[in-house]
Amino acid sequence: MDTTLELLKSRRSFCRLNPDYGKSAGPLPCTKEEIFDAEARLARFAPLLAELFDEAAEHAGIIESELLEIPRLARTLLPGAKMLLKADHDLPVAGSIKARGGIYNVLCFAEKLCFDRGLLSPSDNYRRIDTPEVRKLFAQYTVSVGSTGNLGLSIGTIAAALGFRARVHMSADAKEWKKVLLRSRGAEVIEYTGDYSSAVARGRAEAAKDPFAFFVDDEKSKELFLGYSVAALRLREQLKVRHIFPDPAHPLFVYLPCGVGGAPGGVCFGLKMLFGDAVHCFFAEPAESPCMLLGLASGKNEKISVYDIGLTNKTLADGLACAAPSGRSCQCMRELLAGNFTVQDEQLLALQRKTRELEGLKIEPSAAAGFPGPEMVLNSGFCEERNIAPENVLHILWTTGGRYLPE
Ligand SMILES: *Cc1c(COP(=O)(O)O)cnc(C)c1O
Repeated sequence: MDTTLELLKSRRSFCRLNPDYGKSAGPLPCTKEEIFDAEARLARFAPLLAELFDEAAEHAGIIESELLEIPRLARTLLPGAKMLLKADHDLPVAGSIKARGGIYNVLCFAEKLCFDRGLLSPSDNYRRIDTPEVRKLFAQYTVSVGSTGNLGLSIGTIAAALGFRARVHMSADAKEWKKVLLRSRGAEVIEYTGDYSSAVARGRAEAAKDPFAFFVDDEKSKELFLGYSVAALRLREQLKVRHIFPDPAHPLFVYLPCGVGGAPGGVCFGLKMLFGDAVHCFFAEPAESPCMLLGLASGKNEKISVYDIGLTNKTLADGLACAAPSGRSCQCMRELLAGNFTVQDEQLLALQRKTRELEGLKIEPSAAAGFPGPEMVLNSGFCEERNIAPENVLHILWTTGGRYLPE
């Protein structure tokens, strides 16, 4: 821990392999069956989502991103390596990876309200939800969330579209354009001068006083985590189409930008449940906000913050500006995550620009955090330790936000 701590304090970009990787750390917070259950729920809602959002109608209400070839970017990141890009930066409706967990979480709440009142059953066509009777029910409830921007965009958009009152508590990091977009979609935006955790705390406290409030708790929600995990099933299908069937000797290395750890944690959980030793996940964090790395390396999980070691949590990667990680995600990642690495803001900006120039993709700075991963992990000794031939690795860069980024 001492050297890790020194490296963190130095704000240098570095990679830490997880010494607890693969060692059972007790029961996992979710099961594989729950991933399939989440996938089935999303399928039930698809006809409704297709009706509510033009962007979702193109794929019959299934909100999914493409798996892209990126030959020019790959050549500059790690010449000769096999690399694909999972384009969650372009996810419809929410414009970020938060479309997966955030929308799913609100759908769970909506479904439960309807089931409890006998207004809906699982075999119904869920377009039934879009009726005056259900809308009247939903209008009594407030759905709220604390966010650095993208989660708010996701939750606020789906909640308002379903007819809930939507309240989004935004931290100081949140970009102005995200607030404007959200208000235009019918959500209320409450602005704070504090950081992400304080916006969450304020939102949570407000909701606790209101029996008609539902607060999406990014630091705790199981549904959010499961919504993210469905990405693994979708990726498996996309790989199958390309005749790619990973195995331990031909593994996937997946690089995920990490904030509080819910989105990358959910995706990693799903991937490990489906692919086992044929996949290894690495989380990328800003050098000023490495909360997951710190939580895991110190063993303190959510009980330690980057402020405790003198870091600022100030970063251009607004989607990753979290000072303390999610406890659920830490608990789960302790045995499932292969490693973490940090990146500096200047790298993010340069990589964001390169991605635009070389591949024509519009991503936000946070979304580029994983890009240094292939080179860093291959230099870390990970492959040697596990007897993996580096040329057999398929690297997957996971981009996480940018669709609605203004020019
Ligand atoms: C939220 C977010 C992440 C990371 O998700 P966490 O659940 O906070 O770890 C990554 N990239 C972008 C663009 C995000 O908005």
